[in-house]
Amino acid sequence: MRRLPEIFQEKQKTFSFELFPPKTEQGYANLLLTIAQLAELKPDFISCTYGAGGGNRDKTFEIAQHIQDKHGIPAVAHLTCVLNTQTQIKDILDDIHRRGLRNILALRGDPPIDNPHWTPGPQNFRYSYELCRFIRQYFNDDFGIGVAGFPEGHPACPSIERDAFYLKNKLQNGGDFVITQLFLDNQYYFHYVRRLTDIGVTAKIIPGVLPIANYNRILEFSKKDGVTIPDKVKKIFEPIKDDPEKTLEAGKAFAIEQCKDLLQGGAPGIHFYTLNKYQPVADILKEIK
Ligand code: FAD
Repeated sequence: MRRLPEIFQEKQKTFSFELFPPKTEQGYANLLLTIAQLAELKPDFISCTYGAGGGNRDKTFEIAQHIQDKHGIPAVAHLTCVLNTQTQIKDILDDIHRRGLRNILALRGDPPIDNPHWTPGPQNFRYSYELCRFIRQYFNDDFGIGVAGFPEGHPACPSIERDAFYLKNKLQNGGDFVITQLFLDNQYYFHYVRRLTDIGVTAKIIPGVLPIANYNRILEFSKKDGVTIPDKVKKIFEPIKDDPEKTLEAGKAFAIEQCKDLLQGGAPGIHFYTLNKYQPVADILKEIK
């Protein structure tokens, strides 16, 4: 299966989806149906999270392999350092490689809810750049490697300048491309790209877009992950936050405008946080592609 850097050489703009592994067997069966629908939209790649929000780690690579083998679409397997020792990471990477997966989003991750005080020891990687370096050392160029970017800065990083420097360091240690955290004001993305370009970053910085379907969840997310909710967003969603249908429609309309503006402003594509839903992204893609 092709590595994303090769796809990026051929395509100026890519459209892609993120999924997460469901916790139940029924959820898994539903996801396979959703993947079949999403595949009809011909995305350039689909990524699958690893352990995010306490999600089922074991299924990530199975889902990624299914996406490739059944639908012929390049899959990106997310992989995090937290909880795994370096030896375990090596075994996981061997497994990923054996499955024919050739793209990884290399992340640090966060301590899980049931083990919030976990800290890395000498047998663990501390930062994602160490994981990038490790993948390159063992597998040379077999994998395309993505890293996470934070247009508003990672919440634990003392400044956006330092954050940009750490991002560059991930790329210098083997990262090929960047997928960003969600943001609700495109100016954060455009300033971020400028900040990175100014320090010599040339990798593609793909904006991550979440179509809002549940405003209360966005509020929680904003508190936890430091995503600013602009007044414009509050004005649209506060009055309708208890009406799921109106929120969904407003969320799609907002995402369509956001994506159009990003693409016009030079973004190299859009990575949709689908939350395992087909319809919102299908409707949005129809308007922006
Ligand atoms: P790092 O790059 O290691 O950064 C972590 C912190 O350390 C930051 O504050 C950074 O500023 C700082 N730092 C980085 N390098 C250095 C250095 N050299 N010296 C000192 N400090 C440094 N989480 C999951 O659990 N599973 C997923 O599947 C998942 N997918 C994600 C996908 C995307 C697109 C994004 C944006 C995030 C995702 N996350 C996921 C969340 C991510 O794991 C957390 O946000 C985590 O806190 C940071 O991960 P990172 O890879 O950016 O870590």
